[in-house]
Amino acid sequence: MKDSLLDISNSRLFQALLKKAGVNPPPVLSRSKSPWGEQLLRDRNILIGGEGEHLGPLSKTFVKAGANIFTAPGLNDSTVSAMPHTALSSFENSEKMNTMKGIFYDASGMDSYAQLKELYGFFHQALLNLKGNARVVILTSIPQDQSHVLKQTLSQAVIGFAKSMAKELGPKGSTVQIIQSPEGKEGLDRSSPIAQFFLSDFSAFITGQVICTSTLAKAPENYNFAGSLAGKVVLVTGAIGGIGQGTVMAMAAEGAHVLCLDHESNKEKLEALAKEVDGTAIPLSLGQDDNPTKLAKIIKDSVGHVDILVHNAGITRDKTLKRMSEKLWDQVISVNLKSIVEITEHLAETGLLRDNGRVICLSSISGLAGNFGQSNYSSAKAGLIAFVNGFSKTVADKGITANCVAPGFIETPMTAKIPFMTRQFGRRLATLSQGGLPIDIANAITFLSSSAGQGVNGTVLRVCGGHLMGA
Ligand code: NAD
Repeated sequence: MKDSLLDISNSRLFQALLKKAGVNPPPVLSRSKSPWGEQLLRDRNILIGGEGEHLGPLSKTFVKAGANIFTAPGLNDSTVSAMPHTALSSFENSEKMNTMKGIFYDASGMDSYAQLKELYGFFHQALLNLKGNARVVILTSIPQDQSHVLKQTLSQAVIGFAKSMAKELGPKGSTVQIIQSPEGKEGLDRSSPIAQFFLSDFSAFITGQVICTSTLAKAPENYNFAGSLAGKVVLVTGAIGGIGQGTVMAMAAEGAHVLCLDHESNKEKLEALAKEVDGTAIPLSLGQDDNPTKLAKIIKDSVGHVDILVHNAGITRDKTLKRMSEKLWDQVISVNLKSIVEITEHLAETGLLRDNGRVICLSSISGLAGNFGQSNYSSAKAGLIAFVNGFSKTVADKGITANCVAPGFIETPMTAKIPFMTRQFGRRLATLSQGGLPIDIANAITFLSSSAGQGVNGTVLRVCGGHLMGA
């Protein structure tokens, strides 16, 4: 689906006209595509700041991932002395400042108003010359001592600060995220690849997100992006739809064998897609009671097991509650919720879902905020959020994680059916002022599927460009 405003926003004449009218054209986002490559932050200039004790160790992992590190004026150099970095003498007069592609600030351990003010002071200066499409990540810690009320207060104050900054930077295509890490080495190890993902252009359509790093699932041997799907078997339902196809392509590009599932009536298209990625076509209509056993048999008889479940198939049957027939209610609940829960539980119980596996369900910002005319859809999508949270606890000892991805407005055949004006509003209500692309969702799913995503568990990742709904 084309977004004509975004398409012409590159034209100088159009930009001048919009400026005159006091309207900002949507920014052109800089996106990365699979395969991920060995170094996620290759040649990216990243400014680091803050006083937390994690600044040194985490920055070292960014250097390993290919980043060039710059330190803020006045930063105590001993924090980062053991690694290559360039110390900026000034925010304003340094020509380096406008080459920054990312900023990482360690606010963990913040326990005074003076430190909160330092956070303000740092960004007040750093944003002066920051160009567009920059990625900002702020680290906070989850205080172990629940009685430390001031630490908790300040940690939440940082979130409010970061979410506001996300709204201010969005018009330039820049993004801001907060990672809340548990104290201790394990939390830090898992937070590092999360920070790398959000400092990269693989996360271009995610902003204003708070990620609480989880240590629930058994630790993997290492936290990798590149190659971590090689040899894995992935099931993608709704494979020939907009997000489905993008996901199939991205995961196949990472080396996964993809089981492509869609309606029986789409058999031909499905087989063509499966052939293109060297995968397996599974023509099966979801929403039937025998889906779990039928699917288990197909998997057992074909590849023998599955490592990653991407429950992407979904439908809308919108009507206000007064007009919603029982049939429309049942259809949406059975395809978008019931069959997902039952298939997942059956594949886990039968051992077909392997250890260190992944379950990723496509929820929606409608599931977070509710939406007019979508009581069936929102109910199903909200149910999924609670399901992954509960299910993740039952399989954590096997190293399996379960999460939802909640897309905002994504340009696909599903949203192409929305009336023109509603579609325009849907796009512009995002901080990034546009709809996302299937690749944005595919990148998030690929990240959650990799061993690098082990620290995101039992939660929901919004990929919505900072949409007003559900933020
Ligand atoms: P889409 O309509 O382009 O694709 C959906 C696919 O699912 C289609 O290929 C369809 O044939 C398949 N499918 C539907 N019902 C099925 C069934 N019973 N059995 C087997 N296959 C079935 O949709 P999309 O925009 O790519 O959305 C994918 C997922 O993301 C859905 O779960 C949707 O609810 C969710 N989502 C999308 C958006 C968006 O803006 N596009 C926003 C929020 C959530």
